[in-house]
Amino acid sequence: MKKILMIGTGGTIASKSTPSGLHPQLTLDEILEYIPAISQLCEVDTYQLCNIDSTNVSPEIWSSLAKTIREHYYSYDGFVICHGTDTMAYTAAALSYLIQNSPRPIIITGAQRPINVEVTDSKTNLYDSFLYAVSDQAVGVQIVFNGKVILGTRARKTYSKSFQAFSSINYPYLAVIQDGHLIQYITRKTPYGLGSEPAFYEKLNPKVGLFKLTPGVDSDVLAFMLEKYDAVVIESFGVGGIPTLPRYRYYEVIKEAIDRGKIIVMTTQVPNEGSDMTVYQVGNELKSKVNILEAYDMITEAVLCKLMWILGQTSDPEEVKRLFYTTISNDILY
Ligand code: ASP
Repeated sequence: MKKILMIGTGGTIASKSTPSGLHPQLTLDEILEYIPAISQLCEVDTYQLCNIDSTNVSPEIWSSLAKTIREHYYSYDGFVICHGTDTMAYTAAALSYLIQNSPRPIIITGAQRPINVEVTDSKTNLYDSFLYAVSDQAVGVQIVFNGKVILGTRARKTYSKSFQAFSSINYPYLAVIQDGHLIQYITRKTPYGLGSEPAFYEKLNPKVGLFKLTPGVDSDVLAFMLEKYDAVVIESFGVGGIPTLPRYRYYEVIKEAIDRGKIIVMTTQVPNEGSDMTVYQVGNELKSKVNILEAYDMITEAVLCKLMWILGQTSDPEEVKRLFYTTISNDILY
């Protein structure tokens, strides 16, 4: 029987009702008591990292998760992390950079409804996660939720209440699990062959900000963010561009910051298909004149976490650019 380490961080799946709202309180052992069938699939040990609403998750928690997995890596066949859904996609992206090329599965799951209520997705999601974690085809960081297996660099929470909380963005589902049957659509082989070693990292630079462009917004807001952060991701409209009327001063703000060594990435707030700054003058002129990076089909959650990982290692703009455009766990394919 395979051995799986279950790591607890909290979230709805571990929550109980309190007079002030849902709050994580259940331990992993209490959670496991609700799904005795898991003991037929594998041996489970538990490790409670924290018990928090994932609204409180931070880069320090991502580093602690990576450290915990590194320290236990060779004692287990796989890992199942219980996590709140609100920031699960960020954690999945962060772990995809902190633990690369893992031949063992690192599955993240949670639920929209607590495990101790009558109508809940907790039991199915957790059972499916263990079912997938013991499969020989499961490798690397993935989310298992509502019968879907989603690559860690491609997941986004797209429903705030219903059970189908997550979508896979600009990439297909890896597998589905229907009534306890695993149907694997995409098998990830290289570089995950037997005997391959994962690359572990722990250092992240959290000084990465996200600026959402809205019609008429002042470039002073972006300038302020560029003072506070080492890198700023601009979530623009459509395929990507900046307001170009002279009163906006976006071009000047961006050029001055890049000249000072700041990293700026253009992405889109449109959910699907990514950026292409060359299409319109509002993007093309900027792209051709300054050293701005572009997310293409990479999702915002992955862009932010990738920059934190890269800037944890280097601040040299050319090396940042090289690493940013290096495909890691199929995060960028454009
Ligand atoms: N607020 C909760 C959390 O992210 C929501 C959930 O788990 O579904 O921890």
